[in-house]
Amino acid sequence: MRIEANRDVCIGAGNCVLAAEDVFDQDDEALVVVLEEHPSDDQVAEVRNAVAQCPSGALGLVED
Ligand code: SF4
Repeated sequence: MRIEANRDVCIGAGNCVLAAEDVFDQDDEALVVVLEEHPSDDQVAEVRNAVAQCPSGALGLVED
């Protein structure tokens, strides 16, 4: 699985970081930064939760 993050769409809400802090971070402008583009099996559930909680639709998952 690969995470796609569209920083042009991100509104900096930070939900993704709260849901999966080891996978997502935010830069100085609060826009999403993906720390782990290919999450481990242990991280998949929290990544799906993060994507579901993103209010802007900036996050997507591509199945390998
Ligand atoms: S939850 Fe969505 S809008 Fe909020 S920081 Fe993360 S990617 Fe951006």
